[in-house]
Amino acid sequence: MDIQSHYGLFIDGSFRSARSGDTVSVHAPAGGRELSRVAAAAEEDVEDAVAAAAQEWPAWWARPAVERAQVLAAVGDRIVANRETLARIETLDTGRVIAETRFDIDAIADLFHYFAGVIRSDEETLKRHDPQQMSMVLREPFGVVGAIVPWNFPFLISGWKLAPALAAGNAVVIKPATLTPLSLLALAEITADILPPGLLNVLPGSGRVCGEAILAHSGIAKLSFTGSTEVGRHVAAKAAERVIPVTLELGGKSANIVFPDADYDRALEAAAMAIMMSQGQVCSAGSRLLVHEEIHDRFVADLAELCRTISIGDPLDEATRMGPMVSQDQRDSVLEYVKLGTTEGATIATGGDAPTGGPDGIYDTGPYLNPTILTGVTPEMRVCREEIFGPVLVVQRFTDAADGIALANNSAYGLAGAVWTRDISVALEVAQAVRTGTVWVNDYHPVPSGSPFGGFGQSGYGREVHKASLDGYSQLKTIYINTDRGGYGWYR
Ligand code: NAD
Repeated sequence: MDIQSHYGLFIDGSFRSARSGDTVSVHAPAGGRELSRVAAAAEEDVEDAVAAAAQEWPAWWARPAVERAQVLAAVGDRIVANRETLARIETLDTGRVIAETRFDIDAIADLFHYFAGVIRSDEETLKRHDPQQMSMVLREPFGVVGAIVPWNFPFLISGWKLAPALAAGNAVVIKPATLTPLSLLALAEITADILPPGLLNVLPGSGRVCGEAILAHSGIAKLSFTGSTEVGRHVAAKAAERVIPVTLELGGKSANIVFPDADYDRALEAAAMAIMMSQGQVCSAGSRLLVHEEIHDRFVADLAELCRTISIGDPLDEATRMGPMVSQDQRDSVLEYVKLGTTEGATIATGGDAPTGGPDGIYDTGPYLNPTILTGVTPEMRVCREEIFGPVLVVQRFTDAADGIALANNSAYGLAGAVWTRDISVALEVAQAVRTGTVWVNDYHPVPSGSPFGGFGQSGYGREVHKASLDGYSQLKTIYINTDRGGYGWYR
C-alpha cells in the first residue's frame, strides 16, 4: 500500500467519486508537491454515508461482543502490519517527523486491542431492588456517530474516536480535515476486508460544507468533535438544537511547572519537547512554561540554547526533530502572534522567525519556523491566554507552589500540564490543584491506552483513550422487571 494518486470517498465499504464530481488537491507541507487528488464530499454524499451506516449498525451491534472484539483486534493487527507505510503517509501529509507518526500508529493499533478487551470485559448489570423487582441495565449504541477531526494528528485522533465508537456497536461517518485526509483513507483501504461495509465511512475533501451536513443530519445520533474551541462551540450549539450528545476535545494553553529541585536536565529537555514536538501544533502542548524564580534565568538561557540545536528539516529523515508547519497560513498566524507578543512587551529569547536556506535550500521549500521562546510574559497578554498552535513558548516565573498553581489556573482552558519536582508532596499538591484533564508528573505528553484524555473548561468535555469513553458512545437502558403475582394495589 502507498498513497494513491486519487482517492474517492469511502462509503459502504468502497471508494467512489463525490456525487458532484468535485475533488481537492492534497499537498505535502515539506516541499509542497501534490500527494493526491481527493474527492470532496458534500451534503448528498453525507446522505449516502449516513444511509450506509444506518443500514449496517444494527447487524454489527447484534454480533456477539466476542466477534466484535475479534474484528477490532484484527484492525489493530492490520495497522501494525502497515506501520511504516501509515507513518510515512502521515508524515508526508502533516509534516510531522517520522519518529512521532510511528508513535501514533503504534498507539492506535494498541487502542483497538485495548477496546477489544474492554468490550469483552464490559458487564451489563442487574440491580435487585427486592426479591420481586429488579432492573436490568443494558448498554446500547447510539447508531450512527458523526465524527469530525482536525489536521494536526489525523490518524491518532480518528483512532481515539473509531475504536470506542465501533466497540460500543455504532457505525461511524467521519470527516478528516481538508488538509490531511490521507492516513484515514489509508486506514479505510487496509481494513476494507475486515470491517463490514457501512461501518466506517470516510468523507474527505470539503471541510466546512461536509462538516455542516454532518452536524445537521437527522440520522446522526451522536457527535464527536476534535478541533478549535471556536468551531467546537458551534458544534455544541448544533448538537443542542437536535438534542443529541457531543464529545468535544478542544484547544489548550497548558502549564508546564518546573520547581528548583527537579531533575534539571530531564526537565529542560522535556520543556523543549512539550512545546516544540509537532512544531507546537498539539492541543496539549506545554505552551506556558512556569519556572521557579530560583532557577528561572539559568533554565531559560539553557532552554534557548537547546532550542537552537533542534534539527529542523525533512520530516522523513530519522534525525529530524522538527518539520514544517502544516501550511503557510498556519505559519503566518503563528508569526502574527510573535509580533503581537513583542508589541505586548514580551522579549524574544530565541527564534521568532523562519529559517532560510538550510541543507539544499530546504527551508525555502516549506513553511518552516524556528523554535521560539518569549520571556517577560504576563498573564493578561494575549500570547499568554490564547492558543498559538505553533512552536512558541511563553515563559513566566513563580515564587512558590501557591503562586505556580494560581498562574497555571489563570486560563480559560484546562486540557493538560505538568509538574517537575523530586518532592512527592509538592507534586501531588500541584497536580491536584491544577484544573486540567491531565497532569503529568516528571514527564510530558504520554497518553497510553487506559489514561482518560480530555478537557476542563474551554478545552471541552467527554473523555477519550479510556474505557470510560464507551459511555460516550453508548446509552444505558433500564429494563425494569416486576415478578409480583399479587394484586397491583394502586386503585384496588
Ligand atoms: P478546526 O476547529 O478549524 O477544524 C476541526 C475540524 O472541524 C476540521 O475537520 C474542519 O474541517 C471542521 N470544521 C471547520 N468548520 C466547521 C463547521 N462550521 N462545521 C463542521 N465542521 C467544521 O481545527 P483545526 O485547525 O483543524 O485543528 C486545530 C485545533 O484543534 C486546535 O485548536 C487544537 O487545540 C485542537 N485540537 C484539540 C485536541 C484535543 O484532543 N483536545 C486535539 C487536537 C487538536
